[in-house]
Amino acid sequence: MILEIKNLIKEYDNITPLKDVNAIVNKNDVISIIGPSGTGKSTLLRCINRLEDATSGEVIFNGKNIYDKNYSITDVRKKIGMIFQSFYLFNNLTVLENIMVSQIEILHKTKSHAYDTAVSLLDRFSLKDKMNNFPHELSGGQKQRVAIMRAVAMEPEILLFDEPTSALDPMMVNEVANIVNDLHSKDLTMMIVTHEMNFAKKVSNRVFYMDEGIVYEEGTPEEIFEHPKKIKTQEFISKIESFEKEINKIDFDLYYFISEFMVYVAKRKLDIHRVNIVNLLLEEVIVNEIFKNLSSNDNIKCQIQIFNNKLYMKFMNLSNFNFDYKNTDELSSSIINNNFIEKKEDKNKLEISYLFNI
Ligand code: ADP
Repeated sequence: MILEIKNLIKEYDNITPLKDVNAIVNKNDVISIIGPSGTGKSTLLRCINRLEDATSGEVIFNGKNIYDKNYSITDVRKKIGMIFQSFYLFNNLTVLENIMVSQIEILHKTKSHAYDTAVSLLDRFSLKDKMNNFPHELSGGQKQRVAIMRAVAMEPEILLFDEPTSALDPMMVNEVANIVNDLHSKDLTMMIVTHEMNFAKKVSNRVFYMDEGIVYEEGTPEEIFEHPKKIKTQEFISKIESFEKEINKIDFDLYYFISEFMVYVAKRKLDIHRVNIVNLLLEEVIVNEIFKNLSSNDNIKCQIQIFNNKLYMKFMNLSNFNFDYKNTDELSSSIINNNFIEKKEDKNKLEISYLFNI
């Protein structure tokens, strides 16, 4: 066991997000923390590295309570790193300097040691060509990789991630999952607040569902996502799960497909206007883009998710990839134009994804 959280309470003036959190974290665990917004997930992370102080309770890290008077906050932060949703890179420093600065100032490493560590991380995370660029010259995904490298350079024992995929487009989720898996193979322990169920499934060995100020239910990804025991967990999971189905040219029946999809939509409790939009978008994309371009031996997997008033559709294993990249103007109908956010094709992975507002 690397961390034990005991009776942790955090009160603000008007609200007590953490009422009595108890949990054990084992070395090399990758724990996804899920739950409705406002249930204290970020607060819990902040109390674990003392970015905020809990009102009462204990966080025992390697046998010592980090809330003891003689435990220095700097020591806590050195050993328990955090990656923030909005990255917080130093905008006036280059990528390389961002990764070097805390090693020099906090860990008191020599400049050349910090440089070597930074360059080897940049190499490992395929960002060496950007080392002399400034953060504003990077994409969201690249900024996040820098934020991760900066934290990893501090050689933490635990890394906390606050919604690492939420500021990125949904297509970047796999990339972040690969990074987390890489860090896991190097023995890091991680706790990750996330809204992405597929991401959580890919990276974690345990899942905490938070609600009512406690770790309300915990288990393996399979236990929490496939067989949640408690009613609130069940309700939450049914809201975030995705609809998955295979499509092929030979026996695809659009109307059957849509009727099955509508069972999924019904669980989301959307108003009738939104249900219509979703229905039309699905029909447009599948008929006018996917089905038209499907070859007879294609058997593709389709994954659809409705989340935060967005419709996300992903089609995988498209061997016959001859879509023209269409921008919003060329997309087939006004319903698509009005709701379109983005479309991405990845020919190497044989994937195409769409994101719409609904
Ligand atoms: P989650 O990460 O699960 O969405 P948070 O931990 O961000 O939830 O917030 C839990 C609750 O605590 C929310 O109601 C939020 O408004 C409140 N809260 C968070 N930080 C503060 C703060 N610094 N002062 C007052 N209330 C806060």
